[in-house]
Amino acid sequence: MIAKISEIFKSIQGEGIYQGVEQVFVRFFGCNLACAYCDTRVFCHEEKTLEELMQQITAYGDYHSVSFTGGEPLLQAAFLKEALKSLKRLNKITYLETNGVLYNALWEVIEYCDIISMDFKLPSSTLERALWDEHREFLKVAKTKEVFVKAVIGKDTQLYDITKSIEIIKAVSPKTTFILQPQHPFEEELAEKLAVFEKICQEHGITVEIVSQLHKQLGIK
Ligand code: SF4
Repeated sequence: MIAKISEIFKSIQGEGIYQGVEQVFVRFFGCNLACAYCDTRVFCHEEKTLEELMQQITAYGDYHSVSFTGGEPLLQAAFLKEALKSLKRLNKITYLETNGVLYNALWEVIEYCDIISMDFKLPSSTLERALWDEHREFLKVAKTKEVFVKAVIGKDTQLYDITKSIEIIKAVSPKTTFILQPQHPFEEELAEKLAVFEKICQEHGITVEIVSQLHKQLGIK
């Protein structure tokens, strides 16, 4: 079994509710989306066997968890499942960073995921088509484990996309935390917009946090 992997490295988690914890990152190659703000487009990869991947991960010593990221890791679900399974056998914490669309693939691996960081791709931020139905189905599966939802907020992000996100979270998994992630670099005009979005989430009883990308601020990977 072989996977296309762009990079493997140890660093700190820069986003979401686990910001600051030390992780080993496995970046899978390729994505099914094309978000306007994407900063992880890579054009090269290596092919790795499961044994090669596990050897590299275990060589890192101590860390909080292993983060499978991308691109979109669920595009290579069969390999991902085996990697997650191997890590659970070693009692490691597994963390899946995903664009929150491929819910059938999530079914295949959910048993071996501990933490899921899923995106809501807001059309006014991504400048792509709406994916609300996919996100709703994905969250239904993800909520069987620890999950939080993250959305990138840019200066063009529209209130409608926030109210739609709130509607889905309330209907599917009302206790799930919603992370508003300002697009990097932070522009002052975004502060007011974030405050308005945060207040609306709170008024609907959603746990909301504004979390900037720490690794970008620190200039690390
Ligand atoms: S889902 Fe992530 S990796 Fe894929 S295009 Fe969007 S930002 Fe980039």
